[in-house]
Amino acid sequence: MTPHPSPLTPHRKSARRAVFLDRDGTINVEKDYLHRIEDFEFIPGAPEAIKRLKDAGFLVIVVTNQSGVARGYFGIAEVELLHRHMQGELAKHGTSVDGFYICPHHPTQGTGEYLRDCDCRKGKPGMLLEAAAEHEIDLTSSFMVGDKVADIEAGEAAGCSSLLVLTGYGHQSSSEMSAQRVPVFPTLKEVSDFIVGK
Ligand SMILES: [Mg+2]
Repeated sequence: MTPHPSPLTPHRKSARRAVFLDRDGTINVEKDYLHRIEDFEFIPGAPEAIKRLKDAGFLVIVVTNQSGVARGYFGIAEVELLHRHMQGELAKHGTSVDGFYICPHHPTQGTGEYLRDCDCRKGKPGMLLEAAAEHEIDLTSSFMVGDKVADIEAGEAAGCSSLLVLTGYGHQSSSEMSAQRVPVFPTLKEVSDFIVGK
């Protein structure tokens, strides 16, 4: 008797690995409530680090808390304009990011639709979960990189490996967290060396 052929498993794109990046203090120099293009400044080595991660096959996705929107300091349109500018600058380095996810909310500051206790503001994992669904990302083999405790918490809540950089608020965050809780790197450059070299 001929064996019955095994049922065909439906074709499915294999889930991809991602590096989620905080924006301010991780990719670009931290300036309080940055929203003007003329104030945008890469942290040295950041574009090259993004290129290295992308060239190694990772999706690179920016996840950024922008409570300046809730507070009325600037609008979503200005945030998006800044992100278009960043993509243009990254293009000069032969690279780009795969997506920007923005949390414009704040639980206690501001007024109107953005004043709410949302699921997307980091330390919650909402932006990472949304990106994972849209881009078919395997969170458990992905990374979250940032300079604040909220970045570390969001990554852990999403099931990623969290890494702290010492740029931006990184030194302060490092002293707020128990020693050795997460791997710590001077800048995004060393993070990319670590992830790609693994
Ligand atoms: Mg930051």
